[in-house]
Amino acid sequence: MKKQTTKFIKYDISKELQESLTLLGYINPTPIQEEIIPALLAGRDVVGKSQTGSGKTAAFAIPICEAIHWDDNAPQALILEPTRELAVQVREEIFQIGRKKKLKVPVIFGGMPIDKQEISLKQKAHIVVGTPGRVLDHMRRDNLLLHNIKYLVVDEADLMLDMGFLEDVSLIIKSINPKPILALFSATLGEHVTKLIEIHMNDPKVILIETDTETVSTVEQIGYKLENHDKFNSLIDILILENPDDCMLFCGTREMVNSLFQQMKRKGIRCGMLHGAMEQRDRLFAIDDFRLGKFHYLVTTDVAARGIDFINMTHVINYDFPTNKENYVHRIGRTGRNGKSGKAISFIQDSELRGKKVVEEFTGASIEMKELPNRELVLTKKDTFFKKQKVREALKEKKGAVFNNTITMLSIGGGKKSKMRPGDIVGTICSIEGVTQEDIGIVDVRESISYVEIFNSKGNLVLEALQEKTIKGKERKVQKTK
Ligand code: AMP
Repeated sequence: MKKQTTKFIKYDISKELQESLTLLGYINPTPIQEEIIPALLAGRDVVGKSQTGSGKTAAFAIPICEAIHWDDNAPQALILEPTRELAVQVREEIFQIGRKKKLKVPVIFGGMPIDKQEISLKQKAHIVVGTPGRVLDHMRRDNLLLHNIKYLVVDEADLMLDMGFLEDVSLIIKSINPKPILALFSATLGEHVTKLIEIHMNDPKVILIETDTETVSTVEQIGYKLENHDKFNSLIDILILENPDDCMLFCGTREMVNSLFQQMKRKGIRCGMLHGAMEQRDRLFAIDDFRLGKFHYLVTTDVAARGIDFINMTHVINYDFPTNKENYVHRIGRTGRNGKSGKAISFIQDSELRGKKVVEEFTGASIEMKELPNRELVLTKKDTFFKKQKVREALKEKKGAVFNNTITMLSIGGGKKSKMRPGDIVGTICSIEGVTQEDIGIVDVRESISYVEIFNSKGNLVLEALQEKTIKGKERKVQKTK
């Protein structure tokens, strides 16, 4: 199959970025990218009202990666994210886009050792992604230098402010001099976000992308009148009948997420959970495992799942009806994407019928109330449902897998202790026939070992050749690391 080349070529961006975008399969810019990329490339402040799935991360990552000068050691862009999971996700996307340009993109957030982050900040760091609290921490310790920051992104601004980060975000913005180019993204533009924009932004270009209200029309919305004590048994019946392929189940609190997850597991339903009180590592594992398809049902709170990019869900279940209309729209926007159909099922208590009305007025679509499933029908489908729970399918490919398959990481014996420098490694590798500087990615020289990425599927060629060559006058032990 002929590889399609990217249409991003129409922007004035480097060959390296175009190559990365092609390998990532980004062929056509999304609507928000069409608007944001030229504006940021031209140095204009931008405001994007948009949400996950719109391609907003790449919309700011592409122009920022383009603007980075590789030789500068101090960070040139700072990206603020409200949650640690989002910080990790956004870092990964920027890293992939900037990979061919060999950009270093450290991520800093709370709950992880600060000293390791300090080391990554003190080495060359081009773009830093972090949560506001930890960013301030590193600023105060002089680990994060701001004098060279040209771009500042405030992502998911409404959530950031809901979580109480207004002061931190304002302080960070004010600490950067001269004023950087500012990009702000928010799913909603409420009073506080608007104020932040007025105070800090300079005649921004405002781009409104109404993704979720568009998706509402492709989502079948149904409701069941259920009080709390009846929800679980009815949930099982509904799951058996619907037999969803991929489903997110939303609860109102962390405790409820935990409890529903435990109950579902006890029933033999393979599922995972995500909420803010979980250990950091467990949250990241849950996100990865859900993406890979180790389980297909995720029980979660609104905040923990916000902005996290999962594939299109076939079903969304509001186990607890949301307390605000925006969250309803965010939740059901997880399904019915890219023209696919989807189903949103809400459990609604008597006391929530008013909330249902508010949501219906907001979306302009009604939630059709249904009778609870017929028990006999449920019994006929039970076996099929539980059999499916036991099937272990092949795992999905990780994002960027095609890209990663063309890259090999080699470890080389010798590092700073033996006065090894990146240039020594690059020099030797470039002396191999058929290999040029363009085939070499990030070189990381540690104390007594070094790592180098080899691009363009030339890993084996370089590995073999290095068995015969010397680096800095000595033969070195060279191995593949993955
Ligand atoms: P985001 O809205 O930034 O969370 O991105 C949503 C998803 O779309 C992510 O998985 C991106 O990797 C992907 N994506 C972003 N831009 C493009 C594009 N131009 N073509 C295809 N996929 C894209």
